[in-house]
Amino acid sequence: MRIMVIGGGGREHAIVWALNNSEKVKKIYCAPGNAGIAELAECAPIPVNRFADLIQFAMDHSVDLVVVGPDDPLAEGIVDAFEEQNIPVYGPRKNAAEIEGSKIFMKNLLKKYNIPTAKYETFTDYETALTYLRQQEIPIVIKADGLAAGKGVTVAYSLEEAEQALSDMMVGKVFGESGGRVVIEEFLEGQEMSILAFVDGETVRAMVPAQDHKPIFDNDKGPNTGGMGTYTPLPHIDPALVEDAIENIIKPTAKAMVSEGRSFRGVLFAGLMMTKNGVKTIEFNARMGDPETQVVLPRLKTDLVDIILASINGRLDQLELEWSEEAAVCVIAASEGYPGSYPKGRVIEGLEAAKAQGALVFHAGTAEKDGEFVTNGGRVLGIVGRGRDIAEARARAYEAVSVIKFEGMQYRTDIAAKALK
Ligand code: AMP
Repeated sequence: MRIMVIGGGGREHAIVWALNNSEKVKKIYCAPGNAGIAELAECAPIPVNRFADLIQFAMDHSVDLVVVGPDDPLAEGIVDAFEEQNIPVYGPRKNAAEIEGSKIFMKNLLKKYNIPTAKYETFTDYETALTYLRQQEIPIVIKADGLAAGKGVTVAYSLEEAEQALSDMMVGKVFGESGGRVVIEEFLEGQEMSILAFVDGETVRAMVPAQDHKPIFDNDKGPNTGGMGTYTPLPHIDPALVEDAIENIIKPTAKAMVSEGRSFRGVLFAGLMMTKNGVKTIEFNARMGDPETQVVLPRLKTDLVDIILASINGRLDQLELEWSEEAAVCVIAASEGYPGSYPKGRVIEGLEAAKAQGALVFHAGTAEKDGEFVTNGGRVLGIVGRGRDIAEARARAYEAVSVIKFEGMQYRTDIAAKALK
């Protein structure tokens, strides 16, 4: 098969890597890809929102299957666009991707179908929102309605901080139109977990659970990022809670989407909080997580192509997934200044040495310049260690991190530490 992957981050590198392990795959293209992906796939410098150009490329290269990584093109209807040309494509259609594209749509859906989530109100008027906010308990959570590159959420620990966030979103428009509508929701206390599932209509095939680390600094300090590291499995979490989340959150949500005429085909990703009162939904994403994918796919023993083809052909219910027992830990190496502005073009060293140790190194923001790998984004690399348990996988991940260098490289030193306690 000739497969084309859309996207160019660490998630897409992991997807390309998994597809490349399939005997069914003859050739992989990736648009736009990155310098690491280019080692496995032919990259085409087409932006992910240029649907007509992407479709033309797929036709010119006789692509048999398109796999979409990122949220933005899904929200804009890339799947519908490929389907109109009868090109097989994996991902949710626009009306299903709205579960991620609009937090208000998602919250209203969960409320309508009684699926556990934080209590909330939605606002389009700043003064009304401010009045409501001043009556709430602190901490409180403020969210921009639309996509904001994973940064549209403020968990405020003082009223001052909450008011600042609200004003930034609604008056300052720091997230553009995404912030014109906001959700103000109850703060949920507990540990977070992510469950990703291959979903086709009402059929749900959950992946192994993983945990992300959003804040930039150790001990969850500093502003939120796209994600600074992940690990799987979660040995410190009761498997009954994972079952609870699959049965009481993910399956009912898949069913609700079918009832709404928005049947979901693709990867549904639930961000969950394990509270004293049971597991509650924080968010849904309509695609694989980044960097969750980087630890989950290395544990997948079933051929990813088989899963995708089964979904596209409406046979996912006939497929059971197989997972390895090993653990995986991913540490993100980010540019100096991230999640704020950061420099580009810094030379990356030690990639081969890290791989020689057995680590998987997934590239995110990288480029090739004069035969060298250089930084080209905020999150630069996802360095994955694997082992019999979290302790071993974690030690291997940090060993690999220690041989990789670029000027200003920052990373958290406490990824997966919670799982060791
Ligand atoms: P989201 O983009 O909705 O996943 O939010 C980003 C991060 O903000 C989550 O991973 C949580 O750490 C935090 N968060 C979001 N909503 C809540 C909530 N209701 N209570 C506590 N933390 C939250």
